[in-house]
Amino acid sequence: MQFNPEIKNFGQMLDQVNIQTYETSRNYLTGSVTYLSPYISHGFETMPNIVTQLKRKHGLTPQHKLYAELGWREYYYHVWGHLGDDILQDIRPPLQDVNYQDTMPEDVLQMNTGLAPIDLAISELYENGYLHNHARMWLASYLIHFRKIHWRTCADWMYGYLLDGDLASNHLSWQWVASTFSNKPYLFNAENVAKFAPPEWHCSGSLLDQSYDALEVIARSNQTFKKNSLKPLSKQEIPLLQSRPSDALSKKYSVMTDLKQFEMTKSNQLRLIHPWHLKAKSDEKFQLGIIHLTFHEKFPWSEKRWDFVLNRMSQLCDVIVLGDLEEILLPFFSKRSTMRIDVQNTFNPEYAILLDELTKTNDTVIHPIERFLADPETFCPSFTKFWQIVTKKEKFPQP
Ligand SMILES: Cc1cc2nc3c(=O)[nH]c(=O)nc-3n(C[C@H](O)[C@H](O)[C@H](O)COP(=O)(O)OP(=O)(O)OC[C@H]3O[C@@H](n4cnc5c(N)ncnc54)[C@H](O)[C@@H]3O)c2cc1C
Repeated sequence: MQFNPEIKNFGQMLDQVNIQTYETSRNYLTGSVTYLSPYISHGFETMPNIVTQLKRKHGLTPQHKLYAELGWREYYYHVWGHLGDDILQDIRPPLQDVNYQDTMPEDVLQMNTGLAPIDLAISELYENGYLHNHARMWLASYLIHFRKIHWRTCADWMYGYLLDGDLASNHLSWQWVASTFSNKPYLFNAENVAKFAPPEWHCSGSLLDQSYDALEVIARSNQTFKKNSLKPLSKQEIPLLQSRPSDALSKKYSVMTDLKQFEMTKSNQLRLIHPWHLKAKSDEKFQLGIIHLTFHEKFPWSEKRWDFVLNRMSQLCDVIVLGDLEEILLPFFSKRSTMRIDVQNTFNPEYAILLDELTKTNDTVIHPIERFLADPETFCPSFTKFWQIVTKKEKFPQP
């Protein structure tokens, strides 16, 4: 099974999960990972429902590795819930005496570093909007520790291309690699790539072919490495990151930029649908899709990701509106103060503020983000601590 963004049916994706081989093969680039992340990140289904379905369809148990991996996502949400936008900054001090740069190198953007696991990873990212976890870790480690690019610059860049881009899982994973959210930098070498990736990814004899001691010295110094061999530029087009969908996509999905033509629903109730809650409709309520551009100006997306999100949103919503929604939506609703609004909560910056503003003028019900694990009350600075608490709370049978 491979990542296939054409599969729009989430139930079909769940059917195809192979939990038998997941545990032993998931670290291999060709292993049986689930490819569920784009659908999970954009809220095609809630986490409790996903876990229930995986239990029912495949017999998933709390002891299974997949359960813990889904737990990582919940952990990152736990951290986001406690730290808010601070997850976008260094949580712990960075490695001492290292000067990180804040621009992405051109050879990296052009998939022309001369290092197979890096160039192939970026090529896949551009082409599919998806990358295997191990490839993400290699790319992140290379950019931070070999090229000395600040994790935040890289995280924003990768986030825009990933169909599963999620500020918590993405930015906290980058911090984990950088060591600003872990005890040590994550490092990898050619041997590690040779073990987990197909031959075309291998890089023996390159600058990645070093011992872990040597890599540690590099990571903790200001040493940087530019490309080590010349390669002709790839013919693959480099997709741009855009703070709004192209005109063609906006037209395709009938996206509106104001609500002047908007016929208010006869009912006095309406549900707002934002990009992180694209769950199938469960009632006849009018659904208004919202794209709040002040967020996307800070975190632009590739056309592929815009297409993925708008496609689903258009299936769910009666109308989609895009713009600075504080200017469009707030005046609109304040004139209709009896309107009752339902919306799923989100921690995404700007969207979170918008929802908060709506509660001031309207009867707005903000539903909590549903989790399958009971959230610990106190902040857990590590996944280990989090897992200890949640597994006790859940009364897990001990393995
Ligand atoms: C640098 C970096 C950036 C990342 N950015 C994102 C991101 O933007 N969005 C995102 O969802 N994940 C991100 N991850 C985590 C992980 O790589 C992906 O969740 C996973 O590769 C998605 O593929 P899958 O659904 O086939 O995973 P599977 O292995 O099949 O896992 C099933 C589900 O468990 C969750 N999961 C698995 N591993 C992790 C993990 N390490 N952290 C958090 N959740 C996990 C995801 O929801 C995933 O869909 C990132 C990891 C790294 C190292």
